[in-house]
Amino acid sequence: MPSQEHAELTFSSRTVSAKLIDPAGLLIERAVEIRTNPLTGRTCRIAFSRTKEKEAGTDALPPPPPDAGDTSNCPFCRPQVMSQTPRLNPDLAGENRLSCNDSLLFPNLFPYGSYSAVSLFNDDHFVEIGKASHSSYTDSFLNCRRYLARVREQDPQAVYMAITQNHLPSAGGSLIHPHLQINADSVAANHHRFLLERANDYYQHSGDYLLSSYLGHETNDGSRYIGSTGSWQWVAAFAPEGFFEVWGILPGATSMQQPEKPDWEDLVQGVLNVQHFYRSLNRNGYNLGLLSVEAPASRLELRLVIMARSNYAPWVRSDHTGFEVMLGDMTTFVAPEQTAQWARPFFGG
Ligand SMILES: [Zn+2]
Repeated sequence: MPSQEHAELTFSSRTVSAKLIDPAGLLIERAVEIRTNPLTGRTCRIAFSRTKEKEAGTDALPPPPPDAGDTSNCPFCRPQVMSQTPRLNPDLAGENRLSCNDSLLFPNLFPYGSYSAVSLFNDDHFVEIGKASHSSYTDSFLNCRRYLARVREQDPQAVYMAITQNHLPSAGGSLIHPHLQINADSVAANHHRFLLERANDYYQHSGDYLLSSYLGHETNDGSRYIGSTGSWQWVAAFAPEGFFEVWGILPGATSMQQPEKPDWEDLVQGVLNVQHFYRSLNRNGYNLGLLSVEAPASRLELRLVIMARSNYAPWVRSDHTGFEVMLGDMTTFVAPEQTAQWARPFFGG
């Protein structure tokens, strides 16, 4: 990126059209909007001709998964969770597992990095989208924060941190028992590396924080602004890379250790509001993620990203087709401004 662009946030879009003869013999044009993500420069597409297309398996909220009642074979259910899950390295914690009320945190038996852990909500084995209790979700996040504080103390090099969630197998979840996943490593993931560089470059050239500036633009524009929960501000992503993608930004906070308990409660309220919105669309799967780079020089602010995934139901298609996988452009069917309009009532707007 040329240096003069370091301090710029550009919300650019262009529309192309496809001309074809429809089955009735009429010449028609189909518009496709191509938007560029102001943070990453990645392009995405919005195929408006598919807006009204009924996605298979979304006529109603799909029934619970077949193993929704099978607690005896679940390694995350009590009492077997204590014998079937691993224990923390004693260098990291005096306890075998971390607790926050009914939330239990332990290492991931199949790690993705140096510090890879699982934080259960509680002993409830299956919870439908939007139905998790506010307190269990908050406890799980607070448990993650506590684990990440231990990591920061124990291994100051492991600055690349993330809390993520896969809800249902269609979103990548292997166990339906509700849990958050935590990762910390000294090696940056692609999004950590790119976003840190972009946020720090932007700060160096403008003196402003990248995500705060992004939010300032979106608040002024208003068309994608959804609402707030405490200090968290919620917007539909300008250039989405997932269906109904929503961002929650906590301006000025660059570390997971900065938000206090009420801030985590506010975050959970926003997450549940978005899930109520997804539920209204009969969507049952989602991913969410919150990233940070825990270094004093990081200007990357906290941003939770949440998106609906393909429904978990028989013979539903994946939302990543050959186009996304091979060309690298996500194609969604609904304008982000429409997403914001549909989401606002769930934030009291
Ligand atoms: Zn379970």
